[in-house]
Amino acid sequence: MKKNTLIAMLLIATLFNINAQDNLTVSQRLNLTIYGNMSLEDAETIKESHPNEIEILATSNDEAAVHISEEATHILHELRGTHGPGYLKASNAVEAIKQIRHTRTERKQQMNFTITEGESVSNALAVLSQSNIENQIIELQNYGTRYHTMPAAQMAAVDLKAKWEAMATTYNRDDISVRLVDHSNATDSTPMNSVIMTITGAELPDEFVIIGGHLDSTSGQLSNAPGGDDDASGISVITEATRALLEIGFVPKRTIEVMAYAAEEVGLWGSKDIANQYGSNNVNVVAVGQFDMSNFKSSPKDVYFINDSNAIDPTLTDFFKSLLDTYHGPSSNDAITYGTTACGYGCSDHRFWFENGYKTAFPFESSFQDFQNNNWIYHSTSDRMENVPGADASHSFKFAKLAVEYLIEVSKKSSSLSTPDFSKEGYELYVIDNSLKYESQSFSSPIKSLKIFDITGKRIYKEKELGNAGRISLSRFSKGVYVVSIVLENKKQLSKKVVLK
Ligand SMILES: [Zn+2]
Repeated sequence: MKKNTLIAMLLIATLFNINAQDNLTVSQRLNLTIYGNMSLEDAETIKESHPNEIEILATSNDEAAVHISEEATHILHELRGTHGPGYLKASNAVEAIKQIRHTRTERKQQMNFTITEGESVSNALAVLSQSNIENQIIELQNYGTRYHTMPAAQMAAVDLKAKWEAMATTYNRDDISVRLVDHSNATDSTPMNSVIMTITGAELPDEFVIIGGHLDSTSGQLSNAPGGDDDASGISVITEATRALLEIGFVPKRTIEVMAYAAEEVGLWGSKDIANQYGSNNVNVVAVGQFDMSNFKSSPKDVYFINDSNAIDPTLTDFFKSLLDTYHGPSSNDAITYGTTACGYGCSDHRFWFENGYKTAFPFESSFQDFQNNNWIYHSTSDRMENVPGADASHSFKFAKLAVEYLIEVSKKSSSLSTPDFSKEGYELYVIDNSLKYESQSFSSPIKSLKIFDITGKRIYKEKELGNAGRISLSRFSKGVYVVSIVLENKKQLSKKVVLK
C-alpha cells in the first residue's frame, strides 16, 4: 500500500515536470482541453496520425492517460466505433493517471452466489411482457434526444421516477421508494438527475443488489439522438424485470436498487458519482448488473458477456452464465446462447462500481466486433426500435429474463411474514374440475379484479368485481401452468401459480 502510494507520488511528480515544460509549448501550440484515459493502442494510433491532437501523459499495461483535443474525441470515435465515447474522461491529469493505475478499493466479500429460487423465477418469467418493453422503448425515443444537458433528458428522469412510483402504488408496496439523484455538485457536474428505485430487503436490508442502465443518449444538442437501443432498451429491460417481480408479489431478502444513470455518454458521470458515494460510505453492495444496449442482435449468439479484467468481476459474470445454463440451457425450450467479448476500456456504468471494489457483470447485445460491423443505428438519428432486426424487443426480452433471474437469485425470496401469501390473507385459490375456484374466509376485502396469465406472460383472462367466492371455467384453455393474479378491495395484490391438468 505504502509502496504504491510512493510510486504514485513519483509518477505525479514526474508528470508535473513534464507539464511544466509542456505548458509553454503544448498548451500554447495545441488546443488540448480534455483529460482522460484510453487504450494504449488507440492513443498511439492517434498520436501517429494526428500528433497535434494528443499528448500521452503516462501508460500502464495496455492503457494510456492522455490530454486530448475535442478533435481527438471525434477521431477516436471514427477509429473505434466502439460503445461509449472510446475514452474515460478525467477531471485533471492526476485523475487520468490514477484511473489507469487501477487503485481499486479492496473489499472482503463472502457472497456465495447460488441458484435456488426456481419457483419465483418461473412465476416472474410467466408475467414478463415483451410488449411492455417495446412500449417503454418507444416512450423514451419520443423525447427526441436525451443528451444530458437538454431539458428532455431531465424530463425523462422526472417521468421515469413517476413511472416507477406508479408501479409501487399499483402493486401496493410500501417497501419501495424512488428518488432523484442530483449531480450538480459532482466533480463532473450535469444538470441531469439519475433515478434510483429502492426495494428494501425484508431480512438483510443493508446488503444491496444493484441493476442499472443509462437514461441519457448522445450526441449533443444539434442532432436528434433517440437512443432506442442505447440505452432505452436497457432502461426498459430493468423496469420490466422489476415490474414482473412486483407482479408476483416477490419480497426480496436483500435490498434491490434499480438505477437509471445520468450522463453516461459523456464519460459515466452519473454512475461515477453514485458508485463513489456508495464506495466511500462502504455500502455493502453484493452485485452490480449493467444493462446497456440489448436490442440489436448482430452476432450468432444471444448474449455476450463483457470480460475486460479492468472493469468486470469474473465470479459474478460466471454466475450470470450459470443462470442462463440453468434456466435457458440448450435442451430448454427457451434456450438462450451466450459468448464473451472485450470492450477494451471500462465502457459503461459498471466501471466505477468496479473501481470501488464491487462485483460487476455486463451482458451485451452482441460481440464487439459484430457490433462495430453491423449496428448501423448506433449513436445516430436512426437509433429507433423500428430499425433493429425484427423491429421489436424480442432480443431485449431475453435480457429481461436474465435480469429477472439475477435479481431474484441474488436478492433471494424473503421468508418473512410480509410476503404476500394467499392462505395467510384468508384466501383460497385452486383448480378443480377444469375450473378455478376462489374463496375468501375473511369477507373483509372482496376481490376487485382477477387476471390469468399464460406461461409466456400473455394475459388470457380478466374479470372485475368478483366478490368473495366463485368459480371460473377454464375449459377453453389448454393444459399447462398459469399465473393467477388478484387485486383486493384494499388494493393488495396476490399472485399464485396454478396447474391446469
Ligand atoms: Zn450506452
